[in-house]
Amino acid sequence: MPKLHDPLMIVTDLDGSLLDHHSYSWLPAQPWLNRLTRADVPLVVCSSKTAAEIVPLQRSLGIVGAPFIAENGAVVKLEGQVQAKSARSYDDICQVLQRLRDQHGFKFTGFSDVTEKEVAEWTGLTPHDATLARAREGSESVIWRDTTEQFTAFQQALAADSLELVQGGRFWHVMSQGSGKGAALEWLLTHYAHPTGQRYITIGLGDGPNDAPMLDKVDYAVVIKGYSKNSVELKREDKDRVFYSTGFGPEGWSEGLTHFIQD
Ligand SMILES: [Mg+2]
Repeated sequence: MPKLHDPLMIVTDLDGSLLDHHSYSWLPAQPWLNRLTRADVPLVVCSSKTAAEIVPLQRSLGIVGAPFIAENGAVVKLEGQVQAKSARSYDDICQVLQRLRDQHGFKFTGFSDVTEKEVAEWTGLTPHDATLARAREGSESVIWRDTTEQFTAFQQALAADSLELVQGGRFWHVMSQGSGKGAALEWLLTHYAHPTGQRYITIGLGDGPNDAPMLDKVDYAVVIKGYSKNSVELKREDKDRVFYSTGFGPEGWSEGLTHFIQD
């Protein structure tokens, strides 16, 4: 089990993990956040949120300047710069989606199809925060409104365009193939080493199927109890390095760190 003063990195999902699914509060995690800050342990946000949403949150969390992974891995920011980016731009992805809708009659609604007012209604965000959620760089969030058969056809049509669907807590995310949270984390770990030059020991925390590639990649995985209908299926077999929380959101988050980090 790692200790707080090992070259440790915490990689975390936001919604339903560090942040409460309903209230977006992280209060129960605050004691651990303080401990991590005091020990200089980087807290890397790895979220479906956009960079525009993550930066102000980092300010509130007291982790300004830490690297982060946005839009489910389509965007990685290191030292304030976009260092790795989806092979496809947001505009490009939206154009493909419109073409597939015209060709196949798929029924879905994306963030680019609506105003921040609708996005605010879907998410419970304020209109201002909904504007930040719409400031997308490398993936589109959609609500599927068609049949299961059409969904399979949609997935195949996206694959023919080198795009894939990733399931988040509230939406499906359309992004370049092979640019999920796991690939983004691997990229980050090869470009961001501990000051001693060592590779970081990573503890990952997440509650949704979109977190699985990241949770398979980290050294220690915390699966936070969540509300998703689809459970988090991990491929890794080292069960002693996987912890399932009993609490939801930031309570489960703290439980996980207490389980894995020795004092
Ligand atoms: Mg989540």
